[in-house]
Amino acid sequence: MNENITKRNELLAQKVIKGLESRNMTGYYAANQKEALKIALELIPEKSTITMGGCMSAHEIGLVEALKNGDYNFIDRYSYEDPRDAYRQVFDADCYLSSVNAMTEDGVLVNIDGNSNRVSALAFGPKKVIFIVGMNKVCNDTDSAMKRARNVAAPINAQRFGLNTPCSKTGACMDCKSPDTICCQFLITRYSKHEGRIHVILVNDTLGF
Ligand code: SF4
Repeated sequence: MNENITKRNELLAQKVIKGLESRNMTGYYAANQKEALKIALELIPEKSTITMGGCMSAHEIGLVEALKNGDYNFIDRYSYEDPRDAYRQVFDADCYLSSVNAMTEDGVLVNIDGNSNRVSALAFGPKKVIFIVGMNKVCNDTDSAMKRARNVAAPINAQRFGLNTPCSKTGACMDCKSPDTICCQFLITRYSKHEGRIHVILVNDTLGF
């Protein structure tokens, strides 16, 4: 990572962490992917039951591989014939991994979901939620975070899953109501009722989309 970008990310992350603290959530700054992996593993006790949404960032920092190879009960939805059988176990999990579609400089998290398994788990259920967030996802305010979620994250995800949505063809949100839409639920997390539940690891890197 370029040293000027790193300096900017370090400074911005301090602001984000303060914002998270004001919302009863805990933030961490990782200078690189390796450090992010270390912080995440420190937050997850061995023998924990862990599951996740579609979180590319957790794959990118090597966390999914570490959990699969370690002494953890990792619920892998891709190993189930019907992923809904995995989704139903989510609410009893010790730990849930996710990224955000976008977040604000003052600590508000924005997530969009089609199936809604991810946003429901983020809002309620797993005892601990760990977000892995590349600094590329930090936006100025809630409006710009929503714009990022709908015009960057959602179109890329729609393309990734080969969905028949306008954004798959144009690369931008057309506010569709197509049967394939992945924009069914918008979750804005502005405060956590539960002390110690939400942890956000900000990574000095470009992760996910
Ligand atoms: S509302 Fe439709 S067009 Fe817009 S991002 Fe979501 S799926 Fe794509």
